[in-house]
Amino acid sequence: TKFSDLNLNPKVLKAVEDAGYETPTPIQAAAIPPALEGRDVLGIAQTGTGKTASFTLPMLSLLARGRARARMPRSLVLCPTRELAAQVAENFETYSKHLKLTKALLIGGVSFKEQDKLIDKGVDVLIATPGRLLDHFERGKLLLTGVQIMVVDEADRMLDMGFIPDIERIFSLTPFTRQTLFYSATMAPEIERITNTFLSSPVRVEV
Ligand code: AMP
Repeated sequence: TKFSDLNLNPKVLKAVEDAGYETPTPIQAAAIPPALEGRDVLGIAQTGTGKTASFTLPMLSLLARGRARARMPRSLVLCPTRELAAQVAENFETYSKHLKLTKALLIGGVSFKEQDKLIDKGVDVLIATPGRLLDHFERGKLLLTGVQIMVVDEADRMLDMGFIPDIERIFSLTPFTRQTLFYSATMAPEIERITNTFLSSPVRVEV
């Protein structure tokens, strides 16, 4: 498989070529086509497999058209740590460089003021840690009812860090009709339960 066979948005494909990537990794080849078709994906993959691009590229392709309304992000990526969230945000910047999409990174340890301003302008891709996202929600600053695509990255680390109740709460604040891309390195029983509850006939991709 080549990236050009995957039906990515041409501007996303261009950014992938700019990055110097030639061949999709196995998780990318397996996860991108069903994600572009709107299917839910359960990705069982470790860091280093190219999992970040396996959700970033189809998401950007699906979101390329359309504009976010104020305080209603169109997509949401949940990461367990600030560091991972910042890394994922960098990936979104890289692959969206030829698109006009707005992105915001909501992590702790940063003042709310700048984050509020971004949310007010409307966000196509919101990348967040669960606690900080819920802080903004409790403050009445955003609604998750416009989320069309939601990603949970490194769910096994979310479990280790005690974030599963937050994740369940966040799922329940998004529309039932959203598309979900869910990633975990391992499938603990608690993770299996969450995927059974919140994913709809997912394509299971294991690398
Ligand atoms: P990840 O598993 O998402 O943390 O990605 C691991 C590393 O692989 C990152 O440094 C990416 O920039 C790189 N990478 C992702 N996809 C590809 C690809 N198709 N070809 C070459 N490198 C890639």
